[in-house]
Amino acid sequence: MKGICILGATGSIGISTLDVVGRHPDLYRVVALTAHRDAERLAEQCRRHRPKVAVLADEGAARRLGGLLAGMDGAPEILTGPAVLEEVATLTEVDIVMAAIVGAAGLLPTLAAARAGKRLLLANKEALVVAGEILMSAAAASGALLLPIDSEHNAIFQCMPPGYERGLERVGVERILLTASGGPFLHRSLVELGRVTPEQACAHPNWSMGRKISVDSATMMNKGLELIEACWLFGTRPERIQIVIHPQSVIHSLVQYVDGSVLAQLGNPDMRIPIAHALAWPERLISGVSPLDLFAVGHLDFEPPGFDRFPCLSLAIQAAEAGGTAPAILNAANEVAVAAFLGGRIGFTAIAEVVAATLDRLPARAVPQDGLETLLATDHEARLLAEQMLPSSV
Ligand code: NAD
Ligand code: MG
Repeated sequence: MKGICILGATGSIGISTLDVVGRHPDLYRVVALTAHRDAERLAEQCRRHRPKVAVLADEGAARRLGGLLAGMDGAPEILTGPAVLEEVATLTEVDIVMAAIVGAAGLLPTLAAARAGKRLLLANKEALVVAGEILMSAAAASGALLLPIDSEHNAIFQCMPPGYERGLERVGVERILLTASGGPFLHRSLVELGRVTPEQACAHPNWSMGRKISVDSATMMNKGLELIEACWLFGTRPERIQIVIHPQSVIHSLVQYVDGSVLAQLGNPDMRIPIAHALAWPERLISGVSPLDLFAVGHLDFEPPGFDRFPCLSLAIQAAEAGGTAPAILNAANEVAVAAFLGGRIGFTAIAEVVAATLDRLPARAVPQDGLETLLATDHEARLLAEQMLPSSV
């Protein structure tokens, strides 16, 4: 019986994780559930999964949760406050941590789980983008098993040979083919992109996800963040990763070997597959996802990405190549710009403009050894700068 803590339980990944875990009550016990402010959904999850601890980052929401669970037999302890996420992610009863908070807000608890040697299921790609080196070395030092949840990275992991951690060249891997659906605006012209709404941006053709990652998929910043994520997870450089548009999202990514072999992982686009994989690895678990029907899929298409219409992709690749604090600046500016787009303050194409201008104004620096403070300060500074570029704050 393994104890699990879900950081970001009320989100899209959190809900899918509880769906898989709930199918295997003999294998997993929910120890802690955390969320930002959705007390109603967290209360429902507490009644169904009976965690020991429930956390809401927002204090008012935590009080509301107390009211909602009053009188519940075996009600969880309800906690709130800044350091509490790190505390619950490192509880001794917790063996597995699902890191599914969205954005850099997830970095510190994810890092705490890595330092504590937990099995770390990493959905929160922004944590790796901001502090890849620190997170990877923390996991290596503690022996934490870090397993990717992002469907592409989980696919790449499944296609990698044993010993790939020693270096891809040493195990005959030539390059990684990172697939991208292209999002809801794959073939829209630049003029049309200027007019798209948050609702259109969040209506992804294949995946049902949280609003931030849905917008990232529409700008293709998501693929840029994923390229940086892949560099850290698989110890490689941007030039060894090719982005391939594959609109059906059936192949979740591929690994090409020096002998010409290419291995791919396929499946229906449902996050319960990578979640079940990482929960049980190296064993396999029923995920609840229906089997892939290749006859229903019919055909698989591939095309190169349109860098001119998706400038976020180039910005992310440049930040990956620059290294140091550049990915943290890129991520922070993007979080601010996406929130502004979702809040109706800027148009879709302005997201890339805000990110580009922030990267221009804040030169990237090298990150000193154990430079967490440097990265957190950079994240803060980049957010302030990006905010200043938004129309209503001028
Ligand atoms: P979501 O918006 O649906 O859920 C986010 C969760 O984080 C919620 O539980 C929310 O309460 C919590 N949260 C948000 N801000 C917080 C804060 N400041 N402090 C504490 N908790 C906070 O997001 P999602 O789609 O589930 O994505 C979560 C992460 O997984 C993201 O990093 C995303 O890029 C990654 N991911 C998601 C998918 C997907 O299919 N949804 C696929 C691959 C990767
Ligand atoms: Mg992905």
